[in-house]
Amino acid sequence: MKVTFYGIGYVGLVQATVLADAGHDVCCVDIDETRIENLKKGIIPIYEPGLTPLVEKNFAEGRLTFTTDAEFGVNFGDLQFIAVGTPPDEDGSADLKYVLKVAETIATHMNSPKVIIDKSTVPVGTADKVRAQVQSVLGERGSTLEFSVVSNPEFLKEGAAVSDCKRPDRIVIGTDSADAEELMRELYAPFNRNHEKIIVMDIKSAELTKYAANCMLATKISFMNEMANIAERVGADIEHVRQGIGSDSRIGFQFIYPGCGYGGSCFPKDVQALVRTADGIGYESQILKAVESVNYAQKNKLFEYISKHYGVGVDGKDLSGKTFALWGLSFKPNTDDMREAPSRVLMEQLWAAGAKVQAYDPEAMEETQRIYGSRPDLSLMGTKESALNNADALIICTEWQNFKAPDFSLIKEQLSEAVIFDGRNLFEPTRMHKKGIVYWSIGRLAR
Ligand code: NAD
Repeated sequence: MKVTFYGIGYVGLVQATVLADAGHDVCCVDIDETRIENLKKGIIPIYEPGLTPLVEKNFAEGRLTFTTDAEFGVNFGDLQFIAVGTPPDEDGSADLKYVLKVAETIATHMNSPKVIIDKSTVPVGTADKVRAQVQSVLGERGSTLEFSVVSNPEFLKEGAAVSDCKRPDRIVIGTDSADAEELMRELYAPFNRNHEKIIVMDIKSAELTKYAANCMLATKISFMNEMANIAERVGADIEHVRQGIGSDSRIGFQFIYPGCGYGGSCFPKDVQALVRTADGIGYESQILKAVESVNYAQKNKLFEYISKHYGVGVDGKDLSGKTFALWGLSFKPNTDDMREAPSRVLMEQLWAAGAKVQAYDPEAMEETQRIYGSRPDLSLMGTKESALNNADALIICTEWQNFKAPDFSLIKEQLSEAVIFDGRNLFEPTRMHKKGIVYWSIGRLAR
């Protein structure tokens, strides 16, 4: 089938590539010229395990093309996927300007019937807005071309995006058109062989399903962080509590890790957007507001521990003269994405208190450099070991696999004081105590 994607970011690039790999012909359109020129040269703009060879292969074999020429893209695909960003507006609601711009572009150039598919995460009612936008431009053109609008939200996880798209848990299709449904079923047939994964529903339900999924996951995280905050005050260990509740199959172990807050491009903005949607219809979403505020506070947690440890604020004391080794900058492992990452909140607090940061991340160094540029209080280090050189303490913000069994003697040798502030609870407090390391972690009393 012939497919066009608009917005070649985390979602668009991965989904377009996986569809091409299944045999479809996919044209990728983005307004970012550098991104498109780089992709043509095999330079992939994001880090996702397994993505680079898949893009190279499908590009070389001609099933994947990259262009900034939207008119070409419109006339290429019968199926037109919108996968552009939907960042929060000033009030937290989803900003639809990029989505509606693509709708306008499609309507401006289309010369044959199209199925327009919303893959971006968009509030309930967006399909109606896309439809109205297309209708209005077609009207101006005096065109009676047919089109339908489908909602097909994306559930991939950054860091596992390729495998999620190749083997999705479910494929949600919101449509009111039997013809569009059939085309979508044909498109996804290669991914629907093992067992039925396609769930067809009305458009509004599909739009809400995406928000409900992300908000549920964010709720699990904030719930656990709230339990962690209670645990540390009553002298319990949240990691024991986690094991104790996760073993109940009704609860399960997934997404109940306490930590220094959730980040990324999706949970923070999607929770906010659903709160705004609810406000807009006169319903106060009490749970989601609490999820947001618990997470906001949780991102301050490591700085709170650091402040307690060094007596920040006591007699005007700050962190001047201190250098922190920081392991993990991306908002979660296996990605270079720094959007809303807890590490950013922490680094900014450390800098404001006069400290220096020596940071290391396996993939997010370039992105950190892009965001913060060169500043005297940030050194980007080539290895996790070199980040420890002459530092006063170690902080862990992201649970990358290769942080989980470090050389503790080296840590003790390099740091001026053997102290670790761990935002991901990677180690056993009693083991750290035996090693003579002062260990601050989330929701556990032992230091
Ligand atoms: P992204 O920021 O990585 O990429 C968006 C791309 O759209 C950019 O390259 C930008 O240049 C391009 N763009 C903007 N306007 C355009 C236009 N008019 N024509 C063509 N390209 C245009 O975004 P993302 O992380 O891939 O997210 C895209 C959408 O998918 C969002 O709504 C997001 O909420 C949703 N989503 C994201 C994830 C994720 O893990 N990142 C998962 C599921 C859903």
